[in-house]
Amino acid sequence: MAQDLLKFVSVERETPDKRLAAERLGDFGEIYRNYLPEGAAEQASRCSQCGIPFCQAHCPLYNNIPDWLMLTAEGRLEEAYELAAATNTFPEICGRICPQDRLCEGNCVIEKGFGGVTIGAVENFITETAFAAGWVKPVRPRREREESVGIVGGGPAGLAAADWLRRKGYQAHVYDRYDRIGGLLLYGIPNFKLEKDTVERRARLLAEGGVVFHTDCEVGRGVSLAELRERHDAVLVATGVYKFRDFSMPGSGLKNIVQAMEYLTASNRKGLGDRVEAFDSGALDARGKHVVVIGGGDTAMDCVRTAVRQGAKSVKCLYRRDRANMPGSMREVTHAEEEGVEFVWLAAPEAFLGDDVVREVRALRMRLGVPDAGGRRTPQVVPDSSFKMPCDLAIKALGFDPEDLPAAFDEPELGVTRWGTLKINYKTMATKLGGVFAAGDIIRGASLVVWAIRDGRDAADGIDAYLSAKIADEAERAAA
Ligand code: FAD
Ligand code: SF4
Ligand code: SF4
Repeated sequence: MAQDLLKFVSVERETPDKRLAAERLGDFGEIYRNYLPEGAAEQASRCSQCGIPFCQAHCPLYNNIPDWLMLTAEGRLEEAYELAAATNTFPEICGRICPQDRLCEGNCVIEKGFGGVTIGAVENFITETAFAAGWVKPVRPRREREESVGIVGGGPAGLAAADWLRRKGYQAHVYDRYDRIGGLLLYGIPNFKLEKDTVERRARLLAEGGVVFHTDCEVGRGVSLAELRERHDAVLVATGVYKFRDFSMPGSGLKNIVQAMEYLTASNRKGLGDRVEAFDSGALDARGKHVVVIGGGDTAMDCVRTAVRQGAKSVKCLYRRDRANMPGSMREVTHAEEEGVEFVWLAAPEAFLGDDVVREVRALRMRLGVPDAGGRRTPQVVPDSSFKMPCDLAIKALGFDPEDLPAAFDEPELGVTRWGTLKINYKTMATKLGGVFAAGDIIRGASLVVWAIRDGRDAADGIDAYLSAKIADEAERAAA
């Protein structure tokens, strides 16, 4: 199976097989299949083994990409897995859902002219091979330590921190208000991007490696942050951002106008086999409905693609800028278009129309004016351009902001930035409260899974340094 490298001139870039749109619409399964070993080796062999690998520099985890590509090309998959897992708690998850076009692959030097190496798909292949071969084992630290860390939030940031803390031997306790572990990996991101078995498999592995999960436990209600600080030697806050951005316009009070997260969570819970009243009653089910999704980010893409799978009569995405200026990934837009979603570019909603229940959306045409301070062209209304579209279910997908955590945790000293994210020292990941650290969306605002994993890793290092210094101090004082 051994392959020569630098084959990008003779071997074309090929992603793993993508299921046809007609087949995809019949279920919620992932849309890409995995590589066969020959395909993965061949694609990995396209890497030119750059002296300065830009792919690595643009991976938030600084993954050792060229080396694991070389090992894959040579068929040395166990070593490739060890290398991938050395920097990443969830390589198979990043391989599936990182926006590689903006990160590693978009910065691969052969991207221009030949098409970048399919780094994400190879990372996924390596890790799925490792799971199938039994190479993925629960953490077994060389030495158990007495000190324990309380982690608030079981999303990727909290779980990555738990993994790294266990690797260092600390006792890790994860508290989550939900009934399952995974955060947005489980209840936000739809199955067709990330099947839930993949997330649950990781949660099981962490539990087998000694991470203790406390589900249905909301910090600030069931237990206070002060109590956790008493209970543990350090605390990490990794609660994500969930306050949806809303807007009000005529007709906003009509029925069947919902928020993206309640819609996606209901769909994911149904997929997990839960009873979901609002879905079973039809309120959050798009079947047979004209659906209009308002927003142009990745959450909006997840909503439109969920709606087509639920059997909506029509699905439109209304966005006030154009295709080139939308925040969502182009890859996701392409998938959505293949699946029959209609994009209404340069259009902003003006009113929801209907008696009791929404029946139509009235919208205005927009054009792009001069760039704003951030460099994005500002949308402006085209006069007398109003038009209507049928709508039985409107989904608002305009993004999320942090909740007021100092108030929710009754800790006014927990400093926040002007965006409401927790203020930390980025060198140590420490907040202003002694022994309290933070990671993930709650420090960055809505971001990416790979950044949450990076923060979790950095926070574990910060906590290790803090606890090691504390122990050394105590030992010194005891000796004096
Ligand atoms: P979260 O994943 O939000 O986890 C936070 C956890 O904290 C949750 O489980 C929550 O229940 C818990 N929690 C909150 N408050 C409390 C409390 N008081 N007490 C106890 N527990 C609490 N990123 C990508 O890279 N690729 C994608 O394709 C992608 N798709 C996305 C699709 C959607 C619909 C959304 C909304 C986001 C998507 N993202 C994607 C972004 C990504 O999911 C987040 O950046 C990432 O999950 C942030 O991780 P986190 O651990 O900081 O927070
Ligand atoms: Fe690329 Fe994401 Fe993997 Fe980094 S973690 S190599 S950015 S797919
Ligand atoms: Fe290989 Fe591309 Fe990375 Fe260069 S930038 S090492 S070609 S994957």
